[in-house]
Amino acid sequence: MALETLTNVLEKARKEGYAVGAFNVFDHLSMMTVITAAAEMKSPVIVQTLPPVVHHWGARAVAGWARILSHEHEPIPVVLHLDHGQDIGVIHQCIENGWTSVMIDASRHSLEENIRLTKTVVEEAHPRGITVEGEIGAIFSVEDSETLRKATEHLATVESCEAYVRKTAVDALAPAIGTAHGLYTQTPRIDYNRLRCISEALNIPVVIHGGTGLTREDFQELIRCGASKINIATQINLEYMAAVDSYLTSHPHARDPLDLCTDAARQIREKTMEFIGIFGSAKKA
Ligand code: 13P
Repeated sequence: MALETLTNVLEKARKEGYAVGAFNVFDHLSMMTVITAAAEMKSPVIVQTLPPVVHHWGARAVAGWARILSHEHEPIPVVLHLDHGQDIGVIHQCIENGWTSVMIDASRHSLEENIRLTKTVVEEAHPRGITVEGEIGAIFSVEDSETLRKATEHLATVESCEAYVRKTAVDALAPAIGTAHGLYTQTPRIDYNRLRCISEALNIPVVIHGGTGLTREDFQELIRCGASKINIATQINLEYMAAVDSYLTSHPHARDPLDLCTDAARQIREKTMEFIGIFGSAKKA
């Protein structure tokens, strides 16, 4: 199956009340593992990459892996999405090289500038059938010790989300509602009511960033409040690093890298399947 857009995958999720996992992958192994795990559960899936991954492997190579894997795993819908594109250059590379969706993260700018930058991306992406995700408010990283305090001060408002979506025509929106990227060091204060009001006011899918470390109950409540795309990045990296560490510790004389890859893939696969089960997207392909 050809790669899908966010809209094709998320509109069904929004109507039927489940979320689709958007898993950050960093190489061919992690992308293949996430897609095969989703195929096994007959779930739609979004594989996304941060800009450093695009720079490291090249936009054309990453899109090529996704296209081939998606053909091999027909009929599950696979979206290839750029996560947190802050620089128009990398967004342009992805649009030119076969991505089916991109995120423009201009949330560090004023609302007016965020709208202006987002519009330029939408104008380039939409004529090619590529979907665009935007961000409103500031979704911080937990490495910043002030994150959770700030996270409550920089949350998205219904009014700014409505104005942003109306003026830009983005296809999905990530509003800051109290989650953060990375491993939480304290319990996040998620503003579920804000999420519910935003998703009721908008006519497009709402995205949750900062999925790693949230509980099953958190995810279920987020989905009840209208989330239809949930991003998981740190957990995928941790599974990989833990598998490498444990394999090399238990096999100090190992010589075949493929054995290590098999172990790492097993660990990423199990975690991906666990998230898909919680998000309710199994058998929705
Ligand atoms: P985590 O790294 O906290 O899972 O966040 C993922 C994310 O939101 C990527 O954009």
